[in-house]
Amino acid sequence: MSTTWEAVIGIEIHAQLLTRTKMFCGCELSFGDPPNTHTCPVCLAHPGALPVINREAIRLAIIAGHALGCEISERSVFARKNYFYPDLPKAYQISQYDQPICGPGRFRYLTPDGEQTLGITRAHLEEDAAKLIHLGAEGRRAEAEGSVVDFNRGGTPLLEIVTEPELHTGAAAAAFLKQLRQTLVHLGITDGSMEQGSMRADANISIRPAGTVGLGTKTELKNMNSFTFLERGITAEIARQTALVEGGGRVAQETLHFEPTTGRITSLRSKEQAHDYRYFPEPDLLPVVPDRAWVAEILAALPELPITRRERWMRDLRLTFEDAEVLADPPELGDYFEQVAALAPPKSAANWVRGDLRAQLRERDQEPWQSGVTPDALADIIAMAESREISMPSAKAVLTHVIDHGGAPRDVVAKLGLGAIQDESELMTLVDRLIADNPVQAQQMREGRDKLVGFFVGQAMKATQGRADPARIGELVRERVSAG
Ligand SMILES: [Zn+2]
Repeated sequence: MSTTWEAVIGIEIHAQLLTRTKMFCGCELSFGDPPNTHTCPVCLAHPGALPVINREAIRLAIIAGHALGCEISERSVFARKNYFYPDLPKAYQISQYDQPICGPGRFRYLTPDGEQTLGITRAHLEEDAAKLIHLGAEGRRAEAEGSVVDFNRGGTPLLEIVTEPELHTGAAAAAFLKQLRQTLVHLGITDGSMEQGSMRADANISIRPAGTVGLGTKTELKNMNSFTFLERGITAEIARQTALVEGGGRVAQETLHFEPTTGRITSLRSKEQAHDYRYFPEPDLLPVVPDRAWVAEILAALPELPITRRERWMRDLRLTFEDAEVLADPPELGDYFEQVAALAPPKSAANWVRGDLRAQLRERDQEPWQSGVTPDALADIIAMAESREISMPSAKAVLTHVIDHGGAPRDVVAKLGLGAIQDESELMTLVDRLIADNPVQAQQMREGRDKLVGFFVGQAMKATQGRADPARIGELVRERVSAG
C-alpha cells in the first residue's frame, strides 16, 4: 500500500524596519553607501559601549503586531543569542527569546478563494548582522580568495515573524507571504524589497503521512529572495523529502539552500538547537514596557489596514477580488481610485483606472496619482461616456488629450469636436447609406448572419471618426436591414 504524504510548512520572515537609525545606536541606516561609513563604538562592539533601544523600532513593531492580529506584550525582554560569526562583532546578537514584543495571534488575509488565516507564533525585534563580502569567484564563499566585512548593515532593526506550521504547499506559502508583505509595506514598517534583502523568508518543512497529526523531522530552507523562489524551493524540498522517505531513508534536521538557477537543494549546515545559543537576558537593557496610552495613541493613528480596505471595496462598492487586489497596491493607487469612485459608478471607476488610464500612462512612465488626470477629470470622462454624450473611442481620445495637454474634459470634447452625434435622422441617413453601399453584407444579415452587425457598426464609427454611439448604430442597422 502506498502512502500519500502531506507537507507541513511554517515560515520565518525577517523584515528590516524603516527607521532612520539602527536598533541600539544612533548610526543612520544606509543602503549602497561606501562600506563602513555608518558605524560607531556600539555597533562595532567596542568594549564598554552600551546599547540604547530605538523607540521608533518599538512603535513599528507594535503596528506590525496589530496588523498580524497578535497580542502586544505588556513586558518584553531582549536576550543575547550567542554564536560566533565574522559578521557579528559582539559574538552575540541582541534578539528576543521567551518574552517577545508580539505574542501569539492570527493573521487574516484574502485569496481568490476567500478569507484565510494563519497562526502567528510570535514577532520579535532584533538587530541585523553586518554584511560579508566574498572577494573574487563571483561572490561565492566556497571559491572566494577572501572575505571582508561591511558593518553598515550591522545593527539594523529587524522584525522576525514566525508562523505556525499550518501551510501545506509552496503556492499557499507564497500567497501568504505576498499578503503579509503588502500589509507591512502599506503600514510603512518595511520597504519589503526581497531582491535587496530588506525582507527575507525562510521555510521550515517536514512531511507526514496524510491524515496523521504528528510532525516529521523538519529542514530549514534559507533566504529565498522572491515569491517565485519561495514557492519553487518549498516544492523542490517536499519532493526531495518524499523521495528520500519512500526510498527508505530518513530526513535529517539541517539547514538547506535552494539554488534557483539549477533547482537544486544543497546542505549548508546541520541545524542548531535553541540551547546551542545559550540565550540569556541582555544585562545592558531594561525590559520593554510600552506605556498603554502610547500604544493606544499609535493604534488610533493608523490608516485603514489593507485587508479592511479591500473588504470594504468588495462589500460596499461590489468590486471583484481581483479588482480590489490590483487597485489596493500601491496605496496611492487605492487613494486615487477612491476619489474617482466617489464621483463615478465604482465599477466603471475600477475599469477605467485599472484599464485605459493605467495603460496609457504606463506608455509615458507615469502613475495616475502623479499625472495631469485628476480624479475629477476622469470622473467627467466616465460620466460623458456613460450618458453617451461621447462614444467610447472618443472618451479614450479625450483621456489621451488630457494626459498630454491637460484641460477640462468637456472643453476638450468641444475643441476636438468629439461630441456624439445625437441627431437620430443624421444617424439614420448614415445607416441607410451604409446598407446601400454594402448590399452583399446586408443580404447576408437578412439571411440570419447577425454577426455582420459588427461590420456595419465598424463602418459607421469610421465614417463618423468615432462620434457615433455603437450601441444605437447596432439597433438602427438591425431595424433598417429587416425593413429593407
Ligand atoms: Zn552605530
